[in-house]
Amino acid sequence: MARTPLIAGNWKMVLDHQQGTLLVQKLDWTLKDAKHDHGAVEVAVLPSHTSLRTVQTLIEGDRLALKLGAQDVSAHESGAYTGEVSAAQLAKLGVTYVAVGHSERRQYHGEDDAVVRAKTRRALEHGLTPIVCVGEPLEVRREGTHVPFTVAQVTAALEDLQPAQVAGLVLAYEPVWAIGTGEFASPADAQEVCEALRAAVAGQFDAATAQAVRVLYGGSVKPANIASIMAQPDVDGALVGGASTDAGDFAAIVRYREHPA
Ligand code: PEP
Repeated sequence: MARTPLIAGNWKMVLDHQQGTLLVQKLDWTLKDAKHDHGAVEVAVLPSHTSLRTVQTLIEGDRLALKLGAQDVSAHESGAYTGEVSAAQLAKLGVTYVAVGHSERRQYHGEDDAVVRAKTRRALEHGLTPIVCVGEPLEVRREGTHVPFTVAQVTAALEDLQPAQVAGLVLAYEPVWAIGTGEFASPADAQEVCEALRAAVAGQFDAATAQAVRVLYGGSVKPANIASIMAQPDVDGALVGGASTDAGDFAAIVRYREHPA
């Protein structure tokens, strides 16, 4: 089964809504040239919540070939949860993707597997596509237990979901030691874990679901390393942090097919 590659840019808490507008305009302009096949790669941007409305207006108004994503969602439906943003609110804004369980949420906000599972379910209930992030810290990688560690995170996040829900969502393997550090997993390392996550989905659900689910790699993805990562059979795209806040770099990552692996 052909899975459409997804390149998603997580702007983190870096760009304000004016900077975001500029970036989206530059990105669109850079991707407009005839050589870039818009249908071949899906591109998403994940601004801060404060920029979602502005970026949504731009994407919809100018009919840009970009999807809108959010960086987080509340596990709660609605009510007295000061500071949180609900899945219903994101859906109303035309958001397609939402990252759940990013390692920075797990690390700095104490999000455990139960919270990640609750957020995943909530997102699905409102028609959002979760990007479920998993990844091992450096000590786990050093011990060599990164495969069972990340498989356990995925299994917990997907517990009790229906195969059709899982087939439509996105997993992102982001080794914590590679996020924002300039260290990146070798293509073989990325493939090892992405393949194992797909096999875990096959075991938990079925083979067709595993073939449909998209698995991204994230961690210091740059124009120079994206092509070799995308050449791996079980890697279906990238979740890009730092490099996604530079329109030129992000466009070059999206256009990975045009440079050698
Ligand atoms: C991320 O935050 O998801 C990420 C992968 O960051 P970076 O690309 O900066 O390592």
